[in-house]
Amino acid sequence: MSRYTPMLEQYLEIKERHKDAILFFRLGDFYEMFFEDARIASRELEIVLTSRESGEEKIPMCGVPYHSASNYIARLINKGYKVAICEQMEDPSQAKGIVKREVVRIITPGTVLEDVMLEEGSNNFLASVVQEAGIIGFAYIDVSTGEFKVTEWEGEDAYIKLASELERIKPAECLLLEGDSLALREEDQLRIGKIAFTFLPPEDEAFTAGEKLLLSHFGLSSLKGRGLENMSAGITAAAAILSFLKQTQKINLRHIRDLKVYTWADYVEIDLASRRNLELTSSLREGRREGSLLHVLDKCRTAMGKRMLKSWIEQPLCDLKTINRRLDAVEELKDNLDLRFNLKEILSHIYDLERIAGKIGSGLANPRDMLALKKSALKLREIKEVLKDASSFLLQKIGKLDALDDIYDLLDKSISEEAPVTVKEGNIIKDGYKKEIDELRYIASEGSNWLVDFENRERERTGIKNLKVGFNKVFGYYIEITKANLHLVPKDYHRKQTLVNCERFISDELKSYEDKLLGAKEKLCLLEYEEFMQIREKIALHLGRIQDTARLVAVLDVLYSLAEAAYENNYVRPLVNKSYDLHIKEGRHPVVEKFLESTRFVPNDLYMEKEKHRFAVITGPNMGGKSTFMRQTALIVLMAQIGSFVPAKEANIGLVDKIFTRVGAADDLAAGQSTFMVEMVEVANIVKNATSRSLVLLDEIGRGTSTYDGLSIARAVSEYIVKEIRCKTLFATHYHELTSLADEYEGIFNLAVSVKEAGENVIFLKKVLPGKADKSYGLHVARLAGLPEPINKRAEEILASLERENPERQTVLSPVQLDLFSLEHPVLEELRKIDPDEITPKEALLLLYKLKEMV
Ligand code: ADP
Repeated sequence: MSRYTPMLEQYLEIKERHKDAILFFRLGDFYEMFFEDARIASRELEIVLTSRESGEEKIPMCGVPYHSASNYIARLINKGYKVAICEQMEDPSQAKGIVKREVVRIITPGTVLEDVMLEEGSNNFLASVVQEAGIIGFAYIDVSTGEFKVTEWEGEDAYIKLASELERIKPAECLLLEGDSLALREEDQLRIGKIAFTFLPPEDEAFTAGEKLLLSHFGLSSLKGRGLENMSAGITAAAAILSFLKQTQKINLRHIRDLKVYTWADYVEIDLASRRNLELTSSLREGRREGSLLHVLDKCRTAMGKRMLKSWIEQPLCDLKTINRRLDAVEELKDNLDLRFNLKEILSHIYDLERIAGKIGSGLANPRDMLALKKSALKLREIKEVLKDASSFLLQKIGKLDALDDIYDLLDKSISEEAPVTVKEGNIIKDGYKKEIDELRYIASEGSNWLVDFENRERERTGIKNLKVGFNKVFGYYIEITKANLHLVPKDYHRKQTLVNCERFISDELKSYEDKLLGAKEKLCLLEYEEFMQIREKIALHLGRIQDTARLVAVLDVLYSLAEAAYENNYVRPLVNKSYDLHIKEGRHPVVEKFLESTRFVPNDLYMEKEKHRFAVITGPNMGGKSTFMRQTALIVLMAQIGSFVPAKEANIGLVDKIFTRVGAADDLAAGQSTFMVEMVEVANIVKNATSRSLVLLDEIGRGTSTYDGLSIARAVSEYIVKEIRCKTLFATHYHELTSLADEYEGIFNLAVSVKEAGENVIFLKKVLPGKADKSYGLHVARLAGLPEPINKRAEEILASLERENPERQTVLSPVQLDLFSLEHPVLEELRKIDPDEITPKEALLLLYKLKEMV
């Protein structure tokens, strides 16, 4: 005898196969959870834990209504759980015995498709890493949009690249072969934070027949010509994603139509540290969008645009032609106020077509999604109209987009404007689209009128004044005739039932009406559901078209956004070219300038060229504006290579291939690693990977160690860069000694942030000018910061004495001699106790022995 009811037996059997997920078990209008799952869910979701009796035992149980399940699921996913959705696979009223149930989907952080669980302006990525004989295969997908990409790295810095990519895409979940781990550097791991790993067993199809899996999904006979032919780890990584999706999502994956191979050479290489330091998409301190370049540039009107802008910023281009095409379009939009105004209005009414396409493909789109598609399609025509006379290449191309007219027409004919979000409750299909639906709807709503009408007609035809039409649950509809009138009953009436005073009949007309009416509502819902599915399927045949159009709209939105930002913030079009030179006139920091309200941002120039000006040593006081200047330089270059206008009066930008920054930032204080070690690891990475086309920013290297060590390292690194790598470099430093490098090497020049003294205080002019700073203003900064006056006075004394002792090393502090008696030590305690005048020679000698023992 079993311990449990058959239903619970079924539950346990299904749960056994989904041990690592919380099982949502459909029971009528609820999803129920039992046993340990119930305890977890009631705790995490703050819902009541009840119990169900099974024999002697009380089984913990809790549940959520199915129509609001998404919110509960979202909360569990956010907390790092997986949720398995188990549905009833047959109508409970038709079922013989226990209702058949199956898990139809397993929702994990990386496979979320529901709107409530997705952030609009961000992608939700599922990544996969495969490590094979020194090669890393890396693939990622956004299941909601179908964007699917793959790449491979090998060699020494493969893991550094992996770290940078993980930081860029921030996957919600990452697939890994069971037993594998990622050999990321500790500081990178700390920066990236925790990743939710899901492990696949070695016998998974991805590892045994990965290529076959890709071929069959994309319906290809070979991977040739797709950039995949020489990959192995990459193919396995992509296959792991498909295999995982196939197992967890028992939905159609046809919206995943393409696997794009990308390589690092296509984009400016930005290492993890630089991504963070430059605050491209989130601010360093709070990790929010505010305070990032993305935030300043984001004027996008659609969710697709927002996601694309983010990816453009994260992947600046190296290809001059593409960059200039973007710049041309931004320029046209910036200059044409009317066009920009029209586009703003039009784009605001376009829904997230990418995700709608995803939902249509996977069979999750509801009638409201279809209405959103229709409304958006209407706007596509307007886009074509306003871009009719566009002159730039990109705007012309977008102007030719497929406005999905046929899809619009189909939806306009078929889907009711008031369609609900549910698919099974009717009210979806428009009147006039399908005859059967119209008829059923008429019958369902007008049924009583018809009966009255029929009764009147029959009375007239038969001449029986008291003829009655009635309904009874067992016999259905009937025509009731009293005994006195039986002789008037026409031939086409068929007897149904005899009662004491009357007889009941049915006619063919009434019979066919009855057939129609009985369950008309039910039939109507079913028919509407089937019709909706057919419409959805018809549209699914055109997924590729919707996706292509969505992408063009996203590009348009990003171009609009860049133009709007350029207009609002007074940016200029940079001249991007293949030269080495970097020439910025009156450059500004795009984010910092936004934060200054009363004071204006002080613009600064920079002129770099290959022979004499490729390495700038920047000196000047703390708070003088050095790091802002360096970061703004990198940001201006990046913005130009994104295709954006830049915050400057004029900018001439020779393409860079990689950007490195070594900026001493708060986030270095990684546990377990000394700042100096982190710094040296990063410097090593820079000198190993930078080329003459790279841009390198170094802020205060060598500070984490003793002065002389630090100075020597800083100098050696500078010499190596200027002689061997020859890349454009900005080096901010406290070591004034380094300013003499400019006399020794042709490529090195000095810049200094200027200050003005006003009595005892200094004013930071934030102006970067040729030359070297000659004084440290640390003390003034201390005073400005509000350190108590006695401390400031004492610091001045110490500085003066140090300068007297060591006149040629004014700014570098040597360790101050410590006052012996300011220390605490047991020996000192002993010494304090004695009075030398009172002590005998013998005692003195004994004491000396004792003290000796104590040290
Ligand atoms: P440093 O690196 O020399 O210590 P920072 O670059 O951190 O100095 O700048 C110090 C402060 O001055 C920052 O708060 C910044 O907002 C402001 N600042 C920097 N550059 C400028 C500028 N060009 N115009 C106005 N304010 C600036």
